[in-house]
Amino acid sequence: MSSKMKFVEEELKRLKDEGLYVHIRVLESPQGPWVQIEGRQVLNLCSNNYLGLCNDPRLCEKAKEYIDKFGVGPGAVRTIAGTMSIHVELEEKLAAFKGAEAALVVQSGFCANLSAIPPLVERGDLIFSDELNHASIIDGCRLSRAEIVRYAHCDVVDLEAKLKEYVDKDCRKLIVTDGVFSMDGDIAPLPDIVELADRYGAMVMVDDAHGEGVLGRGGRGIVDHFGLGEKVDIEVGTLSKAFGVVGGFVAGSKELIEFLRQKARPNLFSSALTVPDVAANIAAVDILEESDDLVKKLWENGNYLKKSLKEKGFDIGRSQTPITPIMVGDANKAKEFSLKLFEEGIFIQSIAYPAVPLGSARLRTMVSAAHSKEDLDFAVDKFSKVGRSLGII
Ligand code: PMP
Repeated sequence: MSSKMKFVEEELKRLKDEGLYVHIRVLESPQGPWVQIEGRQVLNLCSNNYLGLCNDPRLCEKAKEYIDKFGVGPGAVRTIAGTMSIHVELEEKLAAFKGAEAALVVQSGFCANLSAIPPLVERGDLIFSDELNHASIIDGCRLSRAEIVRYAHCDVVDLEAKLKEYVDKDCRKLIVTDGVFSMDGDIAPLPDIVELADRYGAMVMVDDAHGEGVLGRGGRGIVDHFGLGEKVDIEVGTLSKAFGVVGGFVAGSKELIEFLRQKARPNLFSSALTVPDVAANIAAVDILEESDDLVKKLWENGNYLKKSLKEKGFDIGRSQTPITPIMVGDANKAKEFSLKLFEEGIFIQSIAYPAVPLGSARLRTMVSAAHSKEDLDFAVDKFSKVGRSLGII
């Protein structure tokens, strides 16, 4: 490597020394409760396949059916030649499912945040952002060039203090928050945020990536969970987690979606979602419309795992959702925990800075509706054995 690129090697070394280097495991089988890695079957406790839909035959069949009818590639960005009837079909189904007037589908949840934020606020405007918001919200905020005012995590008293500080500033104001915070599993105090937004004339946007298919009636998300309807101006969601595929969307009023179609750069400058993705997403929405069985099973599994881990003495943080962190603290120790668990047949990656604040490394267990009670008992047994050997419990 040339000397001008030496910093790359140095940075890689630093990441390794500090336990922050991510060893990326390769799955040799479809996503599921058990997966094959390095030739072994291991219990999968770290994917976002909340409802077990990633390899559901109904999604696969729909993808095959639409490939036969429409091919695979969209051939262009949405605004030139990349909007196919199936994109419109998915958007209409999603809007109906969410109880919103309209929806715009984009390539990922990450892109959905980059799509939604910059058109709404610009230089001279203000964004009030929860300090633990997801990286894609942060990047969307940065791209907008608006001033970013961070408020303490889920702290509406601090949010109000910040809104008051800028009350005389005449500009557009946007409050933005994750719905479910992905690393802790706690839920944003959305009813209080909406009330403050009303009082201080701010727009409200929620990124419900981990609430989609999880919270609310039949998995309709956090806005439904709190019964807030149109009081939340912009709802962002992902199709890459509970929906089991990939993609993201923004849901809201007809005018908002029409505006974003014209303004959102991922919609204007990056090609549309592929045919099999769209098809499988349509099947996923249909499944969620038909029944809430999977959502119920997910919660049952999450609650069971939480109770069992707590009984064993683990610190499982402040989760209010099926996401269950096991707090460790030190990044190297969390990594060792993960490696030892892998030897015992459990696949769970450690999570450290920058995904979580420094010194708060953890393992984050992600159950799915596809796990059985026996799977979870097996996991708790192994967690306890390895946890004890490392002095975590
Ligand atoms: N927002 C939040 C809160 C997320 O947790 C994630 C996924 N890590 C995303 C957005 C990005 O979603 P996607 O994987 O669909 O790009």
